[in-house]
Amino acid sequence: MIPLFSASIANSGIDLQAAVARVIDSHWYVLGKEVAEFEREFAAHVGTRHCASLANGTDALELALRCVGVVRGDGVACVANAGFYGSTAIHAIGAKPLYVDVDVSSMNMSAEAFDKVIELRPKAVIVTHLYGQLADIEAILNKAQAAGIRVIEDCAQSHGAMRKGRRAGSFADLACFSFYPTKNLGALGDGGAVVCNDDEFDATVRQLRQYGWSGKYDVAIPHGRNSRLDEMQAAILRNKLPLLDEWNSQRRSIAARYNEAFTGLPLLLPPSLDPDFVAHLYVVRTDRRDELRAHLKAKGVASDVHYPIPDHLQSAYSSQPHMPLSNTESACRSVLTLPCFPGLADHHVATVIEAVRSFFDSSGIR
Ligand SMILES: *Cc1c(COP(=O)(O)O)cnc(C)c1O
Repeated sequence: MIPLFSASIANSGIDLQAAVARVIDSHWYVLGKEVAEFEREFAAHVGTRHCASLANGTDALELALRCVGVVRGDGVACVANAGFYGSTAIHAIGAKPLYVDVDVSSMNMSAEAFDKVIELRPKAVIVTHLYGQLADIEAILNKAQAAGIRVIEDCAQSHGAMRKGRRAGSFADLACFSFYPTKNLGALGDGGAVVCNDDEFDATVRQLRQYGWSGKYDVAIPHGRNSRLDEMQAAILRNKLPLLDEWNSQRRSIAARYNEAFTGLPLLLPPSLDPDFVAHLYVVRTDRRDELRAHLKAKGVASDVHYPIPDHLQSAYSSQPHMPLSNTESACRSVLTLPCFPGLADHHVATVIEAVRSFFDSSGIR
């Protein structure tokens, strides 16, 4: 079976032992030198003044929302096709997600649909750069700033993506990252971060990640928790960060091979192969998604659906009022993710291409 992601292939050739050994020899495991260095290096990579590392990406979203003053009962605009992570953070605060429909081509938040949700007076908006594709962040940022709405980027799928020399995470008030093992920059466990340029936001995230302390045992702000990246993960991430751009270009060239091979098939393909796309997931769309998926499985090619159930239809939070979300719903019915990760062998890419083409050959559609 050609896998959707392989940690052993993606991590091959990296000296992870050396990173772990540094921490073991230091006998310091939480909030030490590795974390401080990683935060400095990652902020420099993104192009922001600050980075506060955290335990995971969902905490990053929640703490960023709290940082900009979102409290119980507030509305927060976000998309409904991005795996419920933003919704999880919003619900944790007791705030309300105000779902915004997506653009048909990019499957990211539609700036036009955002206009209508502005009328509902959200306190903040989470803009997710889904599948590694930068959203229309400049347009949304302009509209949000004019309306006094805070903007948070969700970069959990877009480490390193770049437009006009600016990286994902350097556009908005605050930006959130996850270092879950399958992400473009992944740890050997959970990890996350909030980056920003504002000294006060950064100080607040640092307090919230450690019980709300201003200093030891002095709880100065409410809603603190324990959410820290540990030294092992920070050391591992430091060894991997210098390879991120190279890995992203490998992902992008696999996506380019797919896009070329699939041109002419009845599939919707990722719209960009530029640096504003880092191919976290290579996602095609077809209304015969489930049949294609079964065909690929029979040919030994793994695939997955990111994500099958839109947030507003999740059973745990039934009957939330929402704007029309027809593009979101049709995306969730038609998206299919194909294998695309650094180290995926050329002949495996060829096998995936052949498996997809044979589906349309055998069904006589082409
Ligand atoms: C993975 C992911 C998250 C959450 O990150 P965790 O570290 O798993 O909590 C948030 N947003 C998006 C878009 C993600 O893909």
